[in-house]
Amino acid sequence: MEPADMAMVQAAFTSNWIAPSGPDLDAFEKEFAAKVGARHATAVSSGTAALHLALKVTGIQPGDEVICSTLTFVASANPIRYLGATPIFIDSDRETWNLNPALLAEFLEKRARIGRIPRALVLVHLYGQSADIKPIKELCDRYGVIIVEDAAEALGATYHGKTPGTFGRCGIFSFNGNKIITTSGGGMLVSDDPILVQQAKFLATQARDHEEYYQHSQIGYNYRLSNILAALGRSQLRVLDARVAARRETFARYQELLDGIDGLEFMPEASFGRSSRWLVCVLIDPVRFGMNHESVRLALGAENIEARSVWKPMHMQPLYEGCERIGGAVAEQLFDQGLCLPSGSNLPMYDLERVVAVVRRCAGRV
Ligand SMILES: *Cc1c(COP(=O)(O)O)cnc(C)c1O
Repeated sequence: MEPADMAMVQAAFTSNWIAPSGPDLDAFEKEFAAKVGARHATAVSSGTAALHLALKVTGIQPGDEVICSTLTFVASANPIRYLGATPIFIDSDRETWNLNPALLAEFLEKRARIGRIPRALVLVHLYGQSADIKPIKELCDRYGVIIVEDAAEALGATYHGKTPGTFGRCGIFSFNGNKIITTSGGGMLVSDDPILVQQAKFLATQARDHEEYYQHSQIGYNYRLSNILAALGRSQLRVLDARVAARRETFARYQELLDGIDGLEFMPEASFGRSSRWLVCVLIDPVRFGMNHESVRLALGAENIEARSVWKPMHMQPLYEGCERIGGAVAEQLFDQGLCLPSGSNLPMYDLERVVAVVRRCAGRV
């Protein structure tokens, strides 16, 4: 964080708009919507809360089926369960690591034949890269499947020049501490439909009826972001482009310094857009590289360098055992070989070179 962030928080304090509503909250929503190119936005306490509300306002009911990308963080799938709906997991495409449109087509065709089309799709944009939205949207439009986009990891990415998260009925973003910009914790729901966003805001503030007294006709939640954190969000929004540039630079530097190592492959960037390169993800083929990704992770750990495995697919999670899934081998391989290297926007070159030195040593390239 920078002094400008503290100044915004300080200004919010000084104005005494502490919580929960306030001018920074309204401004953050407007500025965020303008930045990503959505008509409306509502700020909430987390990306998970945003997804919960998004699924709720798009009408997901207990017993509904909701398709979800299998290779993702658990917060993409849990809100499906919060609503008593059933997730169905679909495998990744090897080129984008995101949902495979061909598998989706096959699956929807099969379901159309028996007259059982799932209600919605949680479309995840992973590690700063957009999924291939166009064919997915065409399929969902044809079969009447609602798209809710989980763009928690993809703020700053583009898909044919537009922001992933703005193509579906609703999209959600996260400002958790690990994301590209942060309010320490927070999230945003966006949509072009004012009614949906209004409904989400209503549910996020305990669903209080429009009466002078406290009357409630629906179950609500306490999901609103505070004005203080919204002030932080406003200043963070101003550094988003610089952070995307820094992350892309970091990625390029790793690529350059680890070029030509057999069995080490970087997450590809799809031709349809720009990845924010939120995390630097690599695949390590144990046979060709000479060591598996876990041994590399441990070697880095021995040098006090933290690296992490790629998300464990949802269909492999004990939590989601027994759920229907379409394919899964690609996500399993990405999990089996994937490693996320230190990727922070402020990673000094000196540290990056230390990481590179360990990885090169592991590959026998001292
Ligand atoms: C971080 C993340 C979320 C959840 O966001 P929080 O703000 O941490 O609740 C959801 N989906 C994905 C893919 C994420 O990476």
